[in-house]
Amino acid sequence: MSKHFIKPLAASLLLAFGAAEAATIQILSRDPAGVGFNDPTPVAPVGGNPGTTLGEQRWNVYRYVADIWEKQLTSDVPITVSAGWEALTCDAGSAVLGSASAWNIWINPPGAAHANTLYPQALANKLSGVNQSEGQEDDGSGYGNVDIKTQFNVNLGQPNCLAGSGFYLGLDGNAGTQVNFVATLLHELGHGLGFATFTRGNTGAMLAGYPSVWDHYLMDNMTGKRWVQMTNAERVTSANNGRRLVWTGGEVKAKVPEVLALGTPSAKITAPSPLVRALAIGTASFGPAITAAGTSAEVMPVVDQADGVTGLACDPLNAINKLAVAGKIALVDRGVCGFTVKVKNAQLAGAKAVLIVDNANDNPPPGLGGADPTITIPAARISKVDGLALKDAMKARSRTRSGLFITLGLDMSQYAGADLLGRPYLYTPNPYASGSSVSHYDTSAFPNQLMEPFINSDLTTVLKAPKDLTFHLLRDIGW
Ligand SMILES: [Zn+2]
Repeated sequence: MSKHFIKPLAASLLLAFGAAEAATIQILSRDPAGVGFNDPTPVAPVGGNPGTTLGEQRWNVYRYVADIWEKQLTSDVPITVSAGWEALTCDAGSAVLGSASAWNIWINPPGAAHANTLYPQALANKLSGVNQSEGQEDDGSGYGNVDIKTQFNVNLGQPNCLAGSGFYLGLDGNAGTQVNFVATLLHELGHGLGFATFTRGNTGAMLAGYPSVWDHYLMDNMTGKRWVQMTNAERVTSANNGRRLVWTGGEVKAKVPEVLALGTPSAKITAPSPLVRALAIGTASFGPAITAAGTSAEVMPVVDQADGVTGLACDPLNAINKLAVAGKIALVDRGVCGFTVKVKNAQLAGAKAVLIVDNANDNPPPGLGGADPTITIPAARISKVDGLALKDAMKARSRTRSGLFITLGLDMSQYAGADLLGRPYLYTPNPYASGSSVSHYDTSAFPNQLMEPFINSDLTTVLKAPKDLTFHLLRDIGW
């Protein structure tokens, strides 16, 4: 997200207008000669992108992505995007890929459903049928009147900027280990068109004191309050309330059953009876998917011989641990070695599944990354708090029995990424993630959604049901 200007609404005559036309999107390059879109470096055509210079290929992706959005949107006013390739923060191991945001924001554009509410300019133009910036003075930057401003990292993939992982400029989705620029740009333009709140989730403060149109549809399902009804402090709490903040718009809710898979992965304690409840989990990118039938077994912790408490499972399990976890769900601590190493060691000791206890206070627990095609048992991450509770419940265990039973399976009363009433979760990790929290769908959505905070490798270029909920959310806010 970049800074936002708010311009007061100029008195404008609302003319009668008919059915809106398919939108047109104008890409306006602000790159100097030889840079970005004008980079003359020769390249071979890739993945359906026929460009023969780096600059051409970059431009082709922009046009390709703009065409996809054009087919989806309707507006009588052309949508303008100021686009540039710039040196953004990066080092050998990490990089800012880029960003996009609505550049001008309007209060009370004609046609808006919500009064005294901030609308991104592209949407304000669509609703009013006139270009709100028409006749406004440019701020001198050269792009002051545009709807959306984008910037992407011109150095990505070079030795000192996420070495080797540049933008993939093919149009076929086969990005391999590179960053899929088609999906990245589709996502970023989604933000610029309105998939974002302008309210600050870390302070709760509304921009210039006005709610964003987005805030009318955000509800904390613990309190039943919408963001527009909350105090700043309540918004801060809500922005950190893992899997509690939901989107209430009717267009999205109607499409959830078509788009999201039925069944939320969870670890359900089935015995002893006083402890019965479902634990939130983060799923693994390796091993078999968690199934509806699930894996049910007694839970036993892996312990370290040195202190008898921590169980990292970074080395092959010793005889005591083997005896404990064989045929059981192994409880292992996060840390020191990779997740796949821990799970493989438990698998070799005969465990049926693995729960990894987080060592940070993340809520909800993130997924488990890594790859190992030889892993054949399911694994998941649980929160530190839940892990401590499980260890406490197993204090009085024998060497082979704990009396604590868990089913690692799918809760079939919920869609993956939505609450019990079928409303999708927004991304609200604790701690707050600046630039990501609130303005994305939650990472528990399955299949993966374009507007999750991370660009997953299985995304398509379809913006609506039955694949994706992106366009339906934009419909809810007025598109
Ligand atoms: Zn994003």
